[in-house]
Amino acid sequence: MTTSTQVPWREQFVRGWGMAVGGPARVFTPTTAEQIADAFAEVQSKKGHIALRGSGCSYGDAALLRDGHVLDLSRMNKILAFDPTTGVARVEPGVTVRDLWRHSIRFGFWPKVVSGTAAVSMGGAAAMNIHGKNNFAVGSFGECVRAFTLLTPGGQLLRCTREQNADVFFAAISGFGMLGCFTELEIETKRVHSGRLRVWGIPARDLAHNLQILEDLKAEADYLVSWIDMHGKGVALGRGLMHRAEQFGPGEDPDGLRWCEPSLQDVPPRLFGVVPKGWLWPGMWTAVKLGQVPTINWAKYQAGFREAKKSPYLQSHGAFHFLLDYVPRWQWMTKPGGLIQFQPFVPKAHGERVLSTLIERCQQAGMVPYLGVLKRHRPDPFLMTHAVDGYSMAMDFCVSKNAARRQALWRLCQQLADIVLEAGGRFYYAKDAVLQASSFARIHGEPTVRTFAALKQRLDPERLLQTDLSVRMGV
Ligand SMILES: Cc1cc2nc3c(=O)[nH]c(=O)nc-3n(C[C@H](O)[C@H](O)[C@H](O)COP(=O)(O)OP(=O)(O)OC[C@H]3O[C@@H](n4cnc5c(N)ncnc54)[C@H](O)[C@@H]3O)c2cc1C
Repeated sequence: MTTSTQVPWREQFVRGWGMAVGGPARVFTPTTAEQIADAFAEVQSKKGHIALRGSGCSYGDAALLRDGHVLDLSRMNKILAFDPTTGVARVEPGVTVRDLWRHSIRFGFWPKVVSGTAAVSMGGAAAMNIHGKNNFAVGSFGECVRAFTLLTPGGQLLRCTREQNADVFFAAISGFGMLGCFTELEIETKRVHSGRLRVWGIPARDLAHNLQILEDLKAEADYLVSWIDMHGKGVALGRGLMHRAEQFGPGEDPDGLRWCEPSLQDVPPRLFGVVPKGWLWPGMWTAVKLGQVPTINWAKYQAGFREAKKSPYLQSHGAFHFLLDYVPRWQWMTKPGGLIQFQPFVPKAHGERVLSTLIERCQQAGMVPYLGVLKRHRPDPFLMTHAVDGYSMAMDFCVSKNAARRQALWRLCQQLADIVLEAGGRFYYAKDAVLQASSFARIHGEPTVRTFAALKQRLDPERLLQTDLSVRMGV
């Protein structure tokens, strides 16, 4: 155990995953809960602040603290126990989605909720209450957390379940690292009978069609997600390619168990077995710089019709879920300014009107996201939830190094946020870099904000835990 004067902080420039925001910080990488407690005590005694950080996959400033302290939890990455009969795992917070599925799939289990990258940590997944392509069916990550231990800034270890310290259970999950540090979590995974999924590509001619497919299939599909061509205009506004995936039942896939071998799930490191995927981002960077994004989107939309003809086809769980991991460091294609993602959640009744307005506004402003992703969601029981009974549309924008253009993008996103909030929508902080403090109460409502503030006061009265996000949102 370290003593309070021995915490070996190192100076580091810490960035959001999208590289558009960041700043210098003093970083420490603990390997035990005792070391976290020591770091808490040392920084608290100096009236400083600490941001918790898992894998650093939040696009914006959720796991940063400019000129403050950052605890990098990525080395607390042990799977402590796994029950091969129930699929329940007990893990340290730095265990990633990839660590978990590599362990569980040998026993025929797959995580119930996974993000679009397998790099996300369990602590970060719980703090942001992440969602997968099956949010409409199984809910959020928090719904598969059975229990966790939270180390509070005061040094108390709280075991939380739906029955024990239930108020903390429902607030720390979704509480963006503001109430304490998860030091252990118990996570449920689900039984799978094959290492593969049946996948359908379904072209959608416009936004209304995309939304209709989500409604038509949500009662029967296991996973649904649509790519949107954000450059589609007029009758093609909001066109895209929906992907539906289904699990196999017992014995349905004769080769299914062989595909439960972890090496067959991993995304291959080379294209056509030859070109290292790490070399692809410069080509993508060139395409972005040459203004080729609309053409690429058009080609992808057309390719969707060929994909539909060969559907259903078989894909490993890993290949279906972690498409974004196919090209390592793909976010570098947005260098030097980086990228931000803006992901509004809109109630179903306003979905088509609001989402089409957002796309039109981007097009009118000449700042069109290079990528759009549409999902169906359902509400969840966590205090600071971002989910609604409706839709989310993730919009990825390249950020310019030019200060005026960067500000114009921030202004545009704030205008878009107003449209969403007026419709009773919400936002997902893991993807945010632009919202203003005034949005916080509009998103959550005053009573929820007061409840969260009271918990913060009880568990962290010195306000040790802070991030650039929490400062920006006035938390
Ligand atoms: C390519 C890509 C695809 C993505 N796809 C999806 C998706 O499909 N669905 C989705 O929901 N999200 C998605 N995300 C976002 C990602 O799931 C979230 O940002 C997630 O929180 C990242 O986890 P992390 O371990 O990197 O946490 P970080 O980004 O490091 O931290 C996230 C938050 O968790 C807090 N935190 C971290 N560890 C702890 C801990 N031990 N205790 C308490 N608080 C802690 C931090 O303070 C911070 O507020 C994607 C991100 C990327 C880069």
